[in-house]
Amino acid sequence: MKFCSQCGAPVELRIPEGDTLPRFVCNACHTIHYQNPKMVVGCIPEWEDKILLCRRAIEPRHGMWTVPAGYMENGETTYQGAVRETLEEANARIEIGPLYALYNIPHINQVYILFRARLLDLDVKAGAETLEVRLFAELEIPWNQIAFATVRNTLKHYYADRRIGEYKFHLGTIEPAQSAGRQATSP
Ligand SMILES: [Zn+2]
Repeated sequence: MKFCSQCGAPVELRIPEGDTLPRFVCNACHTIHYQNPKMVVGCIPEWEDKILLCRRAIEPRHGMWTVPAGYMENGETTYQGAVRETLEEANARIEIGPLYALYNIPHINQVYILFRARLLDLDVKAGAETLEVRLFAELEIPWNQIAFATVRNTLKHYYADRRIGEYKFHLGTIEPAQSAGRQATSP
């Protein structure tokens, strides 16, 4: 950040009085510009024994597969965000299910929240940020072409849970070492 979004004056990176972390501070209008993690919301859309994945038409990880997910918007709930992203990326209507996974990704300042969901029909098609949408059975999952560590971990838990017939909530943290070359900076 170089300029104050309130008044246009240059900002300075410093620790405000009474604070503990450096912030962008405007010395003209005294606004402190706090920066906080972004929430990424999405789902695993299920149809019988298959799940819907999207092949990315955008960077990062262009051409790789992921679940429908994206940045949460102001004014919506986590599950509304997951429904919206699924409609935008895969033109797919879903009934949102239980919260399934939450991943902290502190080194890129993101939190992933993924639900299970039921696909309501098969009238699906790639949205603007998607090259292709497809249903995958477990044996067809392109594990080495999954875009993000969060999604790969979530799907591994998903199939392990399905084998034992009980879906549990999964809380995890993606570390830089695990994600090197794998977790990129946008959903
Ligand atoms: Zn200002």
